[in-house]
Amino acid sequence: MSRIALEMSGQLNRAASMSVAGNMAHPLKDSFGRSHSSLRVSLTDRCNLRCGYCMEEEATFLPAESLLKKKELLWVVSTLVELGVKRVRLTGGEPLLRRDLDEIVFDLKSISGIEELTLTTNGILLEKWAEKLKKSGLDRLTISLDTLDPAVFKRLTRRDELGRVLAGVEAGISAGFQGTAINSVLLRGINEREVGALIEFAHRRGMRPRFIESMPIGAGNYDRGSFISAGELLDLIRDTLGDVVPVPNQFKSATARLFQVKSGLVGIIASVSEPFCGSCDRLRLTADGKFKSCLFSMGETDLLPIIRPEKGSWDRERLVQAVTQAVWHKAAGHEMHAEHFIKPARTMHSIGG
Ligand code: SAM
Ligand code: SF4
Repeated sequence: MSRIALEMSGQLNRAASMSVAGNMAHPLKDSFGRSHSSLRVSLTDRCNLRCGYCMEEEATFLPAESLLKKKELLWVVSTLVELGVKRVRLTGGEPLLRRDLDEIVFDLKSISGIEELTLTTNGILLEKWAEKLKKSGLDRLTISLDTLDPAVFKRLTRRDELGRVLAGVEAGISAGFQGTAINSVLLRGINEREVGALIEFAHRRGMRPRFIESMPIGAGNYDRGSFISAGELLDLIRDTLGDVVPVPNQFKSATARLFQVKSGLVGIIASVSEPFCGSCDRLRLTADGKFKSCLFSMGETDLLPIIRPEKGSWDRERLVQAVTQAVWHKAAGHEMHAEHFIKPARTMHSIGG
């Protein structure tokens, strides 16, 4: 066990014996009765792609000193785990750009209570990282891949990197990762004809294809014209691959609806056309220490003054108070269809997708 992990386990034992303020029977329950056990941790807002639905070409990034350091991040995550978080997903920006990623994975895995540690990546740097991540204990990968056509890839991401992503997918397999998901966003007139090819690509490699509806959380104006709903997507899959049969998802809070096609299961995440806010169990920590109870919330709780106090040491009770309050005030739903909906100022890459 590393030094930091040992320090942390000491802290955790001390913390476990302390009483905690607030609604401590279910500290991460909101005012609508939803419990939260899933946390997305953004490790950086930087990225080596510029997907148009996610970020600006000329995006400005957080100064390096405002990113949470490994020790700070571990303290916040371990506290949230004590409060009920069980599943942690590392994301960004592009999490593989973080130089201490393998150490972060290793130390997170030594926090007892984390049942599953996963990571979402664009795959470009997976050739370099896959084995190290496997050895550090990462449980599963999700790789984002919207197209198998190099020209379309360049159009969508503004970078000519499909080759490295595909090599990254193979590196994930060689490193021994199982149950990898391939996430795709389909856009009308750009890549929707590739739906069958993407499903086949994933199934042939023993992976799980998943399609995410494009959400109004990217840079610039949301292009409603390019939006493809889950219903339309199912028709496209049917036209390309034949029968599509709905399959119940065993997890109540699962975001993906599952469908059986001849070659295997396909997941569809219909966050826009069929929101799953009623069973949402997710919380988010941005790379600069902001806590968000919903991807679409306008507000965020700044934990940085608690994580990096000017004077004194870490105050666990203050952190617990801040996160439990933020969870309690989580809105019922994202209201992205309401007249008054305003797109949050932070775009996906700086919140953590
Ligand atoms: N860079 C990594 C990647 O691309 O996998 C991790 C961060 S990225 C923000 C996580 C996921 O969010 C990706 O699968 C991406 O396709 C998805 N995403 C980004 N912007 C989106 C949007 N506006 N609508 C739907 N999904 C989006
Ligand atoms: Fe980068 Fe991922 Fe956003 Fe694409 S979706 S720009 S890879 S953070």
